[in-house]
Amino acid sequence: MSMRIPATSITGLALAGGRATRMGGVDKGLQTLHGRPLIAHVLARLAPQTGGLIISANRHLDEYAALGAPWQARVVADAAALPRFSGPLAGLLAGMRCAQTEWLLMAPCDSPCLPVDLARTLAAAICAQRADIATVCTVDAAHHTTLHPVFALLRTALADDLAARLAAGEFKVQTWYARHNTVKVPFPDERAFYNINSLPELTALSSLPSPLTTPEQPSGQPPPDGQALRVDVARDLAIQQARQRAPRIGAEDVPLGDALDRVLAQPVISPLNIPAHDYSAMDGYAFCGELLAAAGSGSPSLRLPIAGQSLAGHPFDADVPRGACVRIMTGAPLPAGCDTVIAQEFVERVAAPSLVIVFPASAVTRGANCRRAGEYLAASQLALPAGRRLRACDVGLAASLGMARVSVKRRLRIALFSTGDELRAPGQALGNAGIPDSNRFMLHAMLHRLNVEVHDLGIVRDDPAALEAALRGAIPHADAVIASGGASAGDTDFICTLLQTLGEVTFRGLAMRPGRPFAFGQISAESPSQNGVPSSQAHAALFFGLPGNPVAALVAFWQIVRPALLALMGAAQKPTPLIAATCDAPLRKRAGRTEFLCGVAARGASGLWHVTPTAQQGSGSFVTVSQANCFIVLAHERGQVSAGDPVDIALFDELF
Ligand code: AMP
Ligand code: MG
Repeated sequence: MSMRIPATSITGLALAGGRATRMGGVDKGLQTLHGRPLIAHVLARLAPQTGGLIISANRHLDEYAALGAPWQARVVADAAALPRFSGPLAGLLAGMRCAQTEWLLMAPCDSPCLPVDLARTLAAAICAQRADIATVCTVDAAHHTTLHPVFALLRTALADDLAARLAAGEFKVQTWYARHNTVKVPFPDERAFYNINSLPELTALSSLPSPLTTPEQPSGQPPPDGQALRVDVARDLAIQQARQRAPRIGAEDVPLGDALDRVLAQPVISPLNIPAHDYSAMDGYAFCGELLAAAGSGSPSLRLPIAGQSLAGHPFDADVPRGACVRIMTGAPLPAGCDTVIAQEFVERVAAPSLVIVFPASAVTRGANCRRAGEYLAASQLALPAGRRLRACDVGLAASLGMARVSVKRRLRIALFSTGDELRAPGQALGNAGIPDSNRFMLHAMLHRLNVEVHDLGIVRDDPAALEAALRGAIPHADAVIASGGASAGDTDFICTLLQTLGEVTFRGLAMRPGRPFAFGQISAESPSQNGVPSSQAHAALFFGLPGNPVAALVAFWQIVRPALLALMGAAQKPTPLIAATCDAPLRKRAGRTEFLCGVAARGASGLWHVTPTAQQGSGSFVTVSQANCFIVLAHERGQVSAGDPVDIALFDELF
């Protein structure tokens, strides 16, 4: 039986109870972020995922009720659920009692970045595991798991049980979850569950551009000309915007052989135990560990007749007679009743009168050298999370779970072109003013690594009409359009103006070197935007206008486009690992922009990394990058670097 939880069977609940002691006395939900109450951001994110909204609060009910459309929510007093207690469980109970749907999606009112696919992801886990509650966890790079129990999808029918528990004085969310069939669902990005607990945190979030917190309304306001964005902020913006669009990228089943580098659309829940059976980890003899205790104290010897053998693929199927053992090979199933294996090198085989083994009881402890069924992964545990970009080992894991096909996000369709009157296709005569179009081939190669479909539109002239025609032609078939060149503010740079005409500019200009010219936003093939809102969301595509300078285009792709495309395909982010190295030469660096220099790095005899910048740092050609093996990454705030100073490096490896 397959199960599905449509959005219409889910009510969204924003928890707005709690005191406002750290928020200057104003309720958290009513604090202002980007011109509207914090809770409105939460409601705006819950609304598309659910069939209706509820706010549970313990005061200011009228103000919550007056928030107004389009996020009209019913307001309930959490005290109505339980007069003596006003923690999150009281708010939850009030919401469950008020909801008229089978499911409730709970989130706190101070989490304006919550995922737009929260309901979908939790619902998938509930269906896969036949659970009643799904809650959120995140796992950091060091594999530490953080639970976020106030984000959950639950059955409203559990209300009576919750009321009984609260009446019995059990006020902990997690204790209550533990009483039910609850799945903890890993999400890739901890920041999505960020909640604001103090005024300084609210101020910090306010300083970020609003698309971070307003998914339904991309910013129509480009930063003023000349104001370039920090690279990390720009990357976050692009990722957020891409992630909001990710649910539009459908899923398809592919044979496992085609699954490498594809993004899992659904979590894979193990249908079986790994290993499937108890088996031996050694070549030796399997027996029942009780015999060790029965041998008594001192250092007695055991003498066990050999009843038969168990080989990998050929188990011993008969009963093992009491007091006997079975010859067993590594990987062979443990015979029923056996729970201990002694390695063959510790036994003496005695042939007379029949074949027995003899060994000191002290040579082995009960349970030794056995692998238990499900020891690596038990049936119904999460094997691979949704959003995993499948690596070779993941493909192997899926195979070991018996899966012949996996459900993955469809491949992105990316339109790509270069613009510049000077550009010539490789092999074309250059004449006296031509240069070869190298960016398109580099970008094509980078896109190939991301396993996307590339629609190569070739070279487009520096002509607004030609550029507009190319873009309009590309958008209906593309999830994203990438152009290189024409993104700065010269007389022949039309990309930014076009982006404004055909859609929305989210930002332009990056505070980085190389690569300041950059334009990011979304474009629509329909008529020009009205009041800053694209007229058709259905035909909108993300747009990346990269600098023409080859090294700048490469860095901009790596820093912004690649993470955004990964977000668009629903993949978890994997930031490029940076390695600490000693810089063997001084570097000129201006604080206030992130700089990327080509370097040659090696691990010294001491095990520490050293890096030397390449003699040339010109960004006008791939020559410098090709001669290097890493970028020296100098952070935004950093000033001059002296010889011997520590720096971060990013090894090219699989990157370029
Ligand atoms: P632009 O961003 O259009 O001002 O171009 C900056 C520099 O990059 C100019 O010197 C261009 O000739 C060069 N350039 C632009 N596009 C490409 C390309 N596709 N391949 C190689 N060089 C390019
Ligand atoms: Mg140009």
